[in-house]
Amino acid sequence: MIAPHPAATMRGIASNALECASQRALRFDRVRSVRRATVARDADARYGSLISETLELMETDEEFQTARRRLDELGQRALTKEERTRRRRALDNLGVPSFEAYLDSKGGEALHRAPTTILQVNIGLFCNQACSHCHVESSPLRTKEVMDAKTAEAIVRVLKNSPGVKTLDLTGGAPELHAQFRYLVIEARKLGVDVIDRCNLTVLYEEGQEDLPKFLADNQVKVVASLPCYSEANTDAQRGKGVFERSIAALKDLNAVGYGVEGTGLELDLMYNPGGAFLPPSQETLEVAYRSELRDTWGVEFSRLFTLTNMPIKRFADYLHREGKMSEYMSLLVESFNVAASVGVMCRDLISVSWDGKLYDCDFNQQLDMPVRGTKKTIFDLESCDDLVGEHIVADNHCFGCTAGSGSSCSGATI
Ligand code: SF4
Ligand code: SF4
Repeated sequence: MIAPHPAATMRGIASNALECASQRALRFDRVRSVRRATVARDADARYGSLISETLELMETDEEFQTARRRLDELGQRALTKEERTRRRRALDNLGVPSFEAYLDSKGGEALHRAPTTILQVNIGLFCNQACSHCHVESSPLRTKEVMDAKTAEAIVRVLKNSPGVKTLDLTGGAPELHAQFRYLVIEARKLGVDVIDRCNLTVLYEEGQEDLPKFLADNQVKVVASLPCYSEANTDAQRGKGVFERSIAALKDLNAVGYGVEGTGLELDLMYNPGGAFLPPSQETLEVAYRSELRDTWGVEFSRLFTLTNMPIKRFADYLHREGKMSEYMSLLVESFNVAASVGVMCRDLISVSWDGKLYDCDFNQQLDMPVRGTKKTIFDLESCDDLVGEHIVADNHCFGCTAGSGSSCSGATI
């Protein structure tokens, strides 16, 4: 479950898309059988929780066990430092001094904070899944990193004082499984702020989430859902066995309340990330393929497709190291550097808040424990998001992941 699908890992952009297409005939047989099974289910029956299955797989997966042992022995800080050193070595071999120097040498605009328009909140690391590429290393074992009411109230206070912030972007973990999720949604909507729910789809079938589609629709929440491939095999290899089937069922349930359906105003965007050490294909081209596959095969509708580059950090960095691909991947990112993509990197107008209220320039920096510059380090220190305007953004060698090819951000390609 944990290693990216080996076939996908070995292939390039075009061949991955091709692989999805060429599996079509094969899949139709499987689709028919899955459809038959789905039809055979009682109409009111729901899929069960994934949590016990995820825990079981983590117990038996050698890579998770090794990662856990190393975490116990060395601690998070030492592991993050080790990971950074590996990226640094790869860049040294390429003669690249630093991301910022490289950006400057290509005529890119230095990284300073503009007025904030998006407040992104990582509400906690607990998740019902444990995906192989997860840059926040979420799983059902992350039960301690959970936002409390005091922190959520501070976020609402800052939102009230920040009229320039148009979007509250809720992520995790599986954000919906956290106690403060619905409070934040309701309070932000009262202020007229758009809310994004970064939804893993399978969460719809966790206990207590029976009314989630209705709750999201009632509050006009935008749903951004992960679906790394329209191939069942590739999706399950990256996200866990049974995830694809549940994801399709969840998309249909979201369609049923109006999500992704033209004229409802309920946005349902999908998020693709590569199944290995290669860049995403063109967002526009892939969207066409997704739309046709999902509509023709499953009757699923969605609004837009976003492509995301795998960042060379955390679980994906472990994978690159294990496979001896760190240098190759960093080289790909550097060689694909695109100065136009650097203009739209999300850290320029986004503040990232962690479950315990600390402030970062983006969610990646949050996971690498690289806080914002300046003296205001937590949401409790902020009067409004304007307090950080003009600050120098904290960049490092992982930033090449945001500027390769068409660029990458939480809203997909940056150009
Ligand atoms: S669903 Fe998202 S947060 Fe959860 S493990 Fe997968 S990538 Fe990480
Ligand atoms: S990793 Fe974060 S700080 Fe670096 S360029 Fe991307 S968004 Fe900005």
